[in-house]
Amino acid sequence: MKLILLLAALGVAWWWRQRRDAEQAQRHAARSAASQPLLQDMVRCNACAVHVPKADAVAGRQGAYYCCAEHRRRAED
Ligand SMILES: [Zn+2]
Repeated sequence: MKLILLLAALGVAWWWRQRRDAEQAQRHAARSAASQPLLQDMVRCNACAVHVPKADAVAGRQGAYYCCAEHRRRAED
């Protein structure tokens, strides 16, 4: 009987630790995901001077960036 109680206690302790570790990993992942947009490179639209994240910008000729395809068309035509 003592052995069963001991095993049950160990099982609960193990489960508790797993849960805490999972919560910590989740919190850490959420925090790093939230801070990611702040580290994005920003580029300036060559037509209207608006700053947009490089990932969302439209690349034009000679390394120029634009906020949208319309501005690229207008600037490069
Ligand atoms: Zn623009």
